[in-house]
Amino acid sequence: MDFVFLVWLVLVLALVAGIPQVLRELAAARASILDGLADELTGVERSEGSRRGLAGDYQGRRVQVAARPGGRWVVRARVEAPPPDFTIAPLTNRRRLARWAGLVRDPKLADRVADDRFVLSSPDAARTAPLFARDGLAPRLDRLFGATVGAKGVRLRDGWLEVDYGDMVGRDPGALERSKQRAATVLRDAAALAALCERRQITVGGAQAIVFGWTGGSEAVRCPFCHAGLGDPSEPEVACETCRTLHHAGCFDEAGGCTVFGCEGRAARRQLRA
Ligand SMILES: [Zn+2]
Ligand SMILES: [Zn+2]
Repeated sequence: MDFVFLVWLVLVLALVAGIPQVLRELAAARASILDGLADELTGVERSEGSRRGLAGDYQGRRVQVAARPGGRWVVRARVEAPPPDFTIAPLTNRRRLARWAGLVRDPKLADRVADDRFVLSSPDAARTAPLFARDGLAPRLDRLFGATVGAKGVRLRDGWLEVDYGDMVGRDPGALERSKQRAATVLRDAAALAALCERRQITVGGAQAIVFGWTGGSEAVRCPFCHAGLGDPSEPEVACETCRTLHHAGCFDEAGGCTVFGCEGRAARRQLRA
């Protein structure tokens, strides 16, 4: 047996012996990330095997998390009374070139900054695009598509808002902790995006400004704080300056700011209903 062959043999054996160990470590890391997320949910149901993941309620909203082999994670949040389905992806250089060459015709997103960063596909872009206006979905999408999370895509399909991202847990000591934080961020952002999708654009006083009414699963536009209907002329209404969702003025004051989950807007603009 020559020496080179012997070295190869030893290396191959070491590798084969090491693989189960690496797989065990990855499985333990996945389980630990799922445990961290389960702590934030109520009514948790777990699934094992290749469809490993969990489902439960997060801030009163149905969510699902799937940890696929190979480091793909999918976080889904239920959207009641959803707008038309859409897919949104970061605008890469390749897509930018395709758009410039006229090969891709994605609708404008009602916001120049968002247009420069995202590509939207939707069968009913006129209804979907305003949701991405700078103060709405765009800041959260920016974070999800940024380097920390590195989401591959966000889509709304069949009433579920879905975020797809990759996470191979590294072997350095802080890696698992970072993965857990990343998963918690995606969960929070997916729920916040779902909440923003439960609104529709409405016209107020003939104003050009984009204003949204929260529906929360019903047909009518309602106040996201007290859940009562809007549009009573005797009750003043205001729109959050950040996400532009209408509230009763009294409710907005009582809550000390916007009550749409994930929105931290504190200031309101007075609006007159048409
Ligand atoms: Zn109210
Ligand atoms: Zn708001």
